Amino acid sequence: MDQRFDTTERFTDGAQYIAGRQRAGGSERTQSVTDPATGEELLRYRLAGAADVDAAVDAARAAFPGWAAATPGERSDALHRFAAALTEAAEDLATAESLQCGKPIKLSSEFDVPGTIDNTAFFAGAARHLEGKAAAEYSGDHTSYVRREPIGVIGSIAPWNYPLQMAAWKILPAIAAGNTIVLKPAEITPLTSLMFAQAAGAAGLPDGVVNIVAGTGPEAGEHLVGHPDVAMTSFTGSTAVGKRVAALAAGSVKRLHLELGGKAPFVVFDDADLTAAVHGAVAGALINTGQDCTAATRAYVQRPLYEAFVAGVADLMATVRLGHPLDPATDLGPLVSHAQRDRVAGFVDRARDYATVVTGGQAPQGDLAKGAYYQPTLITGAPQHSEITQAEIFGPVLVVLPFDSDDEGLALANDTPYGLAASAWTRDVYRAGRATRELRAGCVWVNDHIPIISEMPHGGAKASGFGKDMSAYSFEEYTQIKHVMYENTKAAEKDWHRTIFGDRR
Ligand code: NAD
Repeated sequence: MDQRFDTTERFTDGAQYIAGRQRAGGSERTQSVTDPATGEELLRYRLAGAADVDAAVDAARAAFPGWAAATPGERSDALHRFAAALTEAAEDLATAESLQCGKPIKLSSEFDVPGTIDNTAFFAGAARHLEGKAAAEYSGDHTSYVRREPIGVIGSIAPWNYPLQMAAWKILPAIAAGNTIVLKPAEITPLTSLMFAQAAGAAGLPDGVVNIVAGTGPEAGEHLVGHPDVAMTSFTGSTAVGKRVAALAAGSVKRLHLELGGKAPFVVFDDADLTAAVHGAVAGALINTGQDCTAATRAYVQRPLYEAFVAGVADLMATVRLGHPLDPATDLGPLVSHAQRDRVAGFVDRARDYATVVTGGQAPQGDLAKGAYYQPTLITGAPQHSEITQAEIFGPVLVVLPFDSDDEGLALANDTPYGLAASAWTRDVYRAGRATRELRAGCVWVNDHIPIISEMPHGGAKASGFGKDMSAYSFEEYTQIKHVMYENTKAAEKDWHRTIFGDRR
C-alpha cells in the first residue's frame, strides 16, 4: 500500500458520513475495499443498513430548511470554500482514487481530481445564476413570475468507475440549488466519496447537507430509492439497474434522473486525419481501462482507411504500458476488480467464435498476473448485431468495423439501444455537420473523443437515460418551477367570472 495514505487510519471511525460525522454502518455485513492491482485489502468496513439510510435522510431533511433559505451568495461562498478544501486534499484524493479503482495516478491527478475541483468552483459561480422567465403582465391583469425552488432531499446512487467525479456530479448541482443530499457510492469504492463529504464538512457546509451511506444496492440503495422523505432519485449506473430503480421510484412518484450505460460509436470518414483518428481511438477506448460510459467502443471506418486504421490501432495498443496505478509511468491500470476482469474476458472469449481478436484478448502474465489486468484488445470481423458489438463491455476492448457510404456509417453508429456519446472524424465541415445532426447521442465530438467540461451538459438519449449532469442545465433536474400570479386590478368581479355567472353580475 502507498505509505503516504493509510486507509485504515483514515476510516477508523467507520465508512459512513451522516449529519457531519463519520461513523460505522449498522448492517450485519462487512465489505472489503481492495487494491485491484495487488488484491490487497485496503479497508474492511461495516456496510450501511436501512437504519443508516433513515438516519442520513433524517439529517438531510433537518438541514433542508436552513440550506434552502440560505441566499445564493451564501451557498456560493460555501462552495468556494469547498473547492479550496478539495484543492488542499488533492494529493490524497488522487492516491485514494487510484488505490481503490486501479486508476493510473496520472489519470486521477490530472483528470479526476482537477475536474472535480473545477466542477465545485463552477457550481460555486452557478449557484448565483439560477434563471427563469422574466416577470411580466402576460394576461394584462396579472403579474406572473416563476420561482425556481429546490426539491428537498435528493437520494443519489453512483457507480464505481469514477467514484469521486460521480459524487461531485451528483452532489454539486443538487446543493448549489439548495437541496440536501444522501449519496450511496458503489460499495467497492466508497473512499473518495467519503473524503469529498469530509472536505464539505471542513469547508463549513452545515451538517446534514451532504451525507454518504456506503452500502449495497439491494440493501441501502433500494431503501433510499423507496424512502418516502426522499423527493428525487438521481442514479448513475447500468441500464439494467436503472430500470429497477425507475420501477421502485415510480412507487412514490419521485422525480428521476437516470445516467445509464453507453456503447459509443467512433465514426471515421475517408477524409479523416488517420493518425489523429488512430490516436483518438486508442486513447478513447483505453481511458480508465475502458471503464468509461462514453469510451470509444465501436469504431466504424470508411473502407479506404479501414486496413490502415486497424494496423495503426494494433501498433499503438502494443506501446501502452500496463503497471501499478501509483507508478507515474503506468498508462493502463487493472480493471476495478477481478470479477470485472473476468466479465470482460468472458465477452472476448465468446467473440472468438465469430470474430478475430487482432491483439490482446488475455490477462498479462508475470508480475501483473495477480492483479485484475487485461491487455488492450482489438477485435475485427464481428457482425453488427453480435454481442461484442452491441453490449456494454466496460473494459479495454475496441471493435472495428468497415463501412462504405456515409449513410451506412451513420446508420450503423446509431444501431444500438444506447445513445450516450459518439464522435465523427472528418475534415469536411458538411460531413461533420451532418454527423452531429444525425448521431443520436447526448454528446457528439468532432475530431476528438472523451473531453468533458464543467460548463457543458453530460447525459444520454435512448437507453442511456435522461437528464443532465454538470453545467447550468443540471439545475433543470434539481429545481422545480413554481408559477406565481398576482391579480392587479383589485376588482371583486373579474372578466373571466362570466364563464361561471353569465350575465348575473
Ligand atoms: P451498477 O448499475 O451495477 O451499479 C451502480 C450503482 O447502483 C451502485 O452504487 C450499486 O450499488 C447500485 N445498485 C445496484 N443494484 C441496485 C438496486 N437494486 N437498487 C439500487 N441501487 C442499486 O453499475 P456499475 O457496475 O457500478 O457501473 C458501471 C455502469 O455505470 C456502466 O453501465 C456505465 O455505463 C454506467 N455509467 C454511466 C454514466 C453516465 O453518465 N451515463 C457514468 C458512469 C457510469
